Amino acid sequence: MKWKGRQRSSNVQDVRGRKGGKTIGKMGIGGIIILVLYVVLGGDPQEALDQSGLGVEASPQTEYVESAQEKELAEMVSVVLNETEDVWHMIFREQLGREYQEPTLVLFSGTVNSACGSASASTGPFYCSGDNKLYIDLSFYNELKNRFKAPGDFAMAYVVAHEVAHHVQNLQGTTGKVHSQRRNLDEKSYNKLSVMLELQADFYAGVWAHYANSLAGIVEEGDIDEALNAAFKIGDDHIQMMGRGTVMPDSFTHGTSEQRVRWFKLGYETGDIRQGDTFNARNL
Ligand SMILES: [Zn+2]
Repeated sequence: MKWKGRQRSSNVQDVRGRKGGKTIGKMGIGGIIILVLYVVLGGDPQEALDQSGLGVEASPQTEYVESAQEKELAEMVSVVLNETEDVWHMIFREQLGREYQEPTLVLFSGTVNSACGSASASTGPFYCSGDNKLYIDLSFYNELKNRFKAPGDFAMAYVVAHEVAHHVQNLQGTTGKVHSQRRNLDEKSYNKLSVMLELQADFYAGVWAHYANSLAGIVEEGDIDEALNAAFKIGDDHIQMMGRGTVMPDSFTHGTSEQRVRWFKLGYETGDIRQGDTFNARNL
């Protein structure tokens, strides 16, 4: 990805080095497990955290010493965020006839407090619809590379774009509609809705990549393959196979590898958000 030297977003909030205040430990081990299962790779932990009853609490920041790799990653995600702002401003204006409101990206290390409660790096990147912020611990880049075998700057860009996509869904009211169904549905049915929401976020990430290529020209040879590989590697079936050697489709919350790859690709190829209605898709 040709990101170096490009403009960075002004919406990055760096809280690395700040202690998470009330930590996730207060939720107890059961809470952690539920939260981790719920938000593995980019879910919105809103309800899981809401149920924990934790609030936001500021705490003093100590000087955070970043490694050279972290410095570069922090710059890169800031550039990617800026590129998503350009693209979504354009799409909102041209395809939706309204103004896009930019989200904030919070860089944290270890644990963090959000309006959705506290979370730790092990939760993976997530978006909180309660405060319109994306939360990323940059160590996730190494998780992607080493644990998920999905290396590359564009794999990370896809992750950022996916979280931004959750913000777009929030602005569109889709997130609220899905969350409001939580009480009415059994777990299996709600998981299906969650998969639709996640696959649409992958589609939107693909739409972003479409314009990052055609308008910004930052996509290089091999980049899309990096994103597709990441989408494949973080598919529910692939993760379950890695973890327990078997697959339980009813428990999927993000979609299979095949689905995630297919929806990202459709977004990338069309750049047309009208084609991303995963909730009414004949072939999800
Ligand atoms: Zn997600």
